[in-house]
Amino acid sequence: MNVLIVEDETRLADALGQILKEEKHQVTVVYDGRDGLEYGLTGSFDVIILDVMLPYMDGFEVVRRLRSHHVKTPVLMLTAKDQLINKIEGLDSGADDYMTKPFEMQELLARVRALGRRTGDVTMDTMQYGDLELNMETMELSCGAKSLSLSQKEFLVLKILMAHKETIVSKEELINKVWGPDSDAEGNNVEAYISFLRKKIAFVGSKVQITMVRRVGYHLEE
Ligand code: CA
Repeated sequence: MNVLIVEDETRLADALGQILKEEKHQVTVVYDGRDGLEYGLTGSFDVIILDVMLPYMDGFEVVRRLRSHHVKTPVLMLTAKDQLINKIEGLDSGADDYMTKPFEMQELLARVRALGRRTGDVTMDTMQYGDLELNMETMELSCGAKSLSLSQKEFLVLKILMAHKETIVSKEELINKVWGPDSDAEGNNVEAYISFLRKKIAFVGSKVQITMVRRVGYHLEE
């Protein structure tokens, strides 16, 4: 399974990540609510493990926003012992399950597996922006009856832009998320992929544009 961990206690977050990797899951770890929302919005995870108290945006708000964007990825919320009262709020906000810290790793793994089993009917399988539709499984881009396949990097770049809609995404952010923070990719790598994507978007006959804001980044526009 592809699991997103959103937890600002870095030791706990990294330990969880390690254990899930040992169980052969793919794991992405982020440490604040804003990044959690951004990654969650891509819809590419089977389960999200989400802490409640997080910098920038709390876990309840993250789930609410995911659900309001129709991202149905199962969410397991983690909270400190003295926040039991929040259980109702957590489930009301759209979380699927709830665990109180400290917890047994075995129990957490069991709950993650149980949530993952629900994935078949709840994962978001397409993303939309304007007249464009992006298929998360096949990486196909379509507009009306026309469609074509994207390469993996084109897919990732477009997925991030679609998750941000009209909000600007910087070149650095794209490099970090698509090529990875340790890569030696540069601005002109991003420019090349933006140019491929523009051609493909035009090819399927979409009205969507990728607009560049000089020295800031890119965003989508209808
Ligand atoms: Ca926390």
